[in-house]
Amino acid sequence: MNDHNQRHQARMERKKALIDASIARADQEKGLLLVLTGNGKGKSSSAFGMVGRSLGHRMKVGVCQFLKSRTDTGEEAFFGQQTNCEWHVLGDGFTWETQSREQDITTAQHGWEVACQMLADPAYHLVVLDELTYLLNYGYLNADQVLDTLAARPPMQHVVVTGRAASPALCDLADTVSEIADVKHAFRSGIQAQKGIDL
Ligand code: ATP
Ligand code: MG
Repeated sequence: MNDHNQRHQARMERKKALIDASIARADQEKGLLLVLTGNGKGKSSSAFGMVGRSLGHRMKVGVCQFLKSRTDTGEEAFFGQQTNCEWHVLGDGFTWETQSREQDITTAQHGWEVACQMLADPAYHLVVLDELTYLLNYGYLNADQVLDTLAARPPMQHVVVTGRAASPALCDLADTVSEIADVKHAFRSGIQAQKGIDL
């Protein structure tokens, strides 16, 4: 073996030892709160990726889609049919479409009640609260109450919250926070939302 290959092998052995040690240290199990935020594309679709993973493990999943205006998405058509997946579309669209703050608040509060039932039920292994951050940021829901409810959920239940501009308090409560950066988006080149990619 030449020098270069030997050095590479030694480096990989050291790396493997470090990774194995950190895997051995990570010996806890708990329900996680994940926050997927930022201006880039990929927040909801990442959450739906975890829905697919969970269903593959025969886990029970609940999805609450707040603020959604479309009813023709691939995710709803697909996951809505799965026996272990309960899918609720709880919005009538974005606030600039409904143009009524009062109506938005009523819709948000109704949606939150549906979410609360899942967050109180340990039968749900994963609950996705898609676009929840907007309801908090617009003040449609009481942020303290929402955080308390999330904190008081069943200990083994995972929750994924998506939406831009997640508050510092929500991020503090979360176990995992990813901020997706908007480096480039096809929409700005005049390309409309594409089936399978955007909806
Ligand atoms: P996705 O559902 O594709 O993962 P997302 O949840 O990260 O997207 P949202 O803000 O919920 O983003 O927007 C949903 C829709 O808007 C999708 O069609 C997505 O492609 C599009 N979109 C997301 N980010 C941007 C952006 N930075 N510029 C333009 N369109 C965007
Ligand atoms: Mg989204």
